[in-house]
Amino acid sequence: MKYKRILLKLSGEALAGADGSGISTAVLEQYALEIKQVVDLGVEVAIVIGGGNIFRGVTGERSGIDRVQGDYMGMLATVINAMAIQSACERQGMYTRVMSAIKMEQVCEPYVRRRAVRHLEKGRIVIFGAGTGNPYFTTDTTASLRAIEIEADVVLKGTKVDGVYTADPMKDKTATRYNTITFKDVLEKKLSVMDLTAFTLCQENNLPIIVFDMNKGGNLLKLVEGEDIGTLITV
Ligand code: UDP
Repeated sequence: MKYKRILLKLSGEALAGADGSGISTAVLEQYALEIKQVVDLGVEVAIVIGGGNIFRGVTGERSGIDRVQGDYMGMLATVINAMAIQSACERQGMYTRVMSAIKMEQVCEPYVRRRAVRHLEKGRIVIFGAGTGNPYFTTDTTASLRAIEIEADVVLKGTKVDGVYTADPMKDKTATRYNTITFKDVLEKKLSVMDLTAFTLCQENNLPIIVFDMNKGGNLLKLVEGEDIGTLITV
């Protein structure tokens, strides 16, 4: 197995499935089954889930909601998604904990790094909710930050596309996918992988990122087994 401890970043939007908003139970079940394949191998799995299917601070701002207020709403949205993933994983027989950056004791545990690591060592999936707990950040930044804190081997960014392309493959038919690319080249070529805060955190801490298609069955398993899929970004 190539990776022993992974941080899986899932977008909130992907949870919406074909409906475009809300939470699709079909997507939840599919994700839980994918995650189970790697948990059964003994891989330690931490998850950060976005909130874009429910609320985003920037979008709220356009309709008159104060940005900071909206960002807190977005963070709460990620807790709802984290709880949904938790249920789906438990239904498949996995052990899980949701840890929130904003205290909500009746709902989930507060984030404490040492406890998160202990859960992982015991084979529990740890789902980090409420982002970093701060407005003006994203769940991509949360993924980078938590991955560094728990000393994950890699950030696996599950998306709808199967990697990083030379140009937007939806607009440019000649676009090709990189198998590997350096952090420096991503910046120089202005390719979009994550927001800059999230990206530079990984770069400065020598934490590789793999962008891959989470909707294709078996991809997560292939990645932890070291198969060359998606795009690997390294120093
Ligand atoms: N958010 C925040 N601080 C954080 C993480 C998230 O304020 O540390 C808010 C922000 O408003 C963001 C929303 O939560 O738009 C949902 O997260 P994100 O947009 O990253 O979700 P995704 O695009 O992955 O679905």
